[in-house]
Amino acid sequence: MKLKDKVCIVTGAASGIGNAIAHKYASEGGKVAIADLNIEAAQKAAEDIKAQFGTEAMAVAMDVTSEEQVNAGVQAVVDAWGTVDVLVSNAGIQIVNPIEEFQFSDWKKMLAIHLDGAFLTSKACIPHMYAQGSGAILFMGSVHSKEASKLKSAYVTAKHGLLGLSRTIAKEAGPKGVRTNVICPGFVRTPLVDKQIPEQSKELGIPEEEVISKVMLGQTVDAEFTTVEDIAEVALFFAAFQTNALTGQSLVASHGWFME
Ligand code: NAD
Repeated sequence: MKLKDKVCIVTGAASGIGNAIAHKYASEGGKVAIADLNIEAAQKAAEDIKAQFGTEAMAVAMDVTSEEQVNAGVQAVVDAWGTVDVLVSNAGIQIVNPIEEFQFSDWKKMLAIHLDGAFLTSKACIPHMYAQGSGAILFMGSVHSKEASKLKSAYVTAKHGLLGLSRTIAKEAGPKGVRTNVICPGFVRTPLVDKQIPEQSKELGIPEEEVISKVMLGQTVDAEFTTVEDIAEVALFFAAFQTNALTGQSLVASHGWFME
């Protein structure tokens, strides 16, 4: 059990990648808080985890762009379980549009969910991690933390920004035993990606099959999607890693779409 009794908060864990990470952490003995905007789906995920693994799990209503809700959600976890050992700032959305048509309100929404969310959740968890002299923070970046694609100005900007925030926290928090790293997945078939396929097809003027085969998987080594399980494995590796040898890093898991 790599995370036995570790208190783990995963944002956006009611669906997709975050949900798989929450299940993986519970399978390794972690107590998992599913923090999500969608409280009904979060409650269902927590019930599912308790039934499947017999571990403790709780749902936390949280809009990661609200300082008040983030602070209240983290406090609820600390009240229940005493501390926070692992934070996965994963909640995210996608909005695609060419730059000249990108609504300013959508730009601000994207930066708020991805960047404010990472900042606010880190800020709320770090004092508890410092108090115990240990902790692991993970940000859900993307290949788009290192590479650009058409139509994704706000997403690419936000995902690049997470690298800077992670590296800064790594320097500030390292001496106090807190590590921070970024996971950079390629395309993973979740609701976030399913929504984009028809949208990109329309914007780029190509069939949906071509969005998948060329835009999403064209540069992979084997034309395969990365899976939520693949990313959950990486998230376990980072969360369970014991020393500051691995901090301020980012790991791409993308079937070779992006190599460095
Ligand atoms: P998803 O749509 O399946 O899940 C996202 C979850 O985030 C949902 O449960 C949603 O309710 C929650 N959420 C959205 N806005 C929120 C907010 N303001 N506060 C709290 N919760 C909120 O998406 P996913 O594909 O699992 O994406 C998870 C993360 O992985 C995102 O940060 C995304 O950018 C990143 N990512 C996804 C892919 C991919 O191909 N799917 C690739 C790289 C990175």
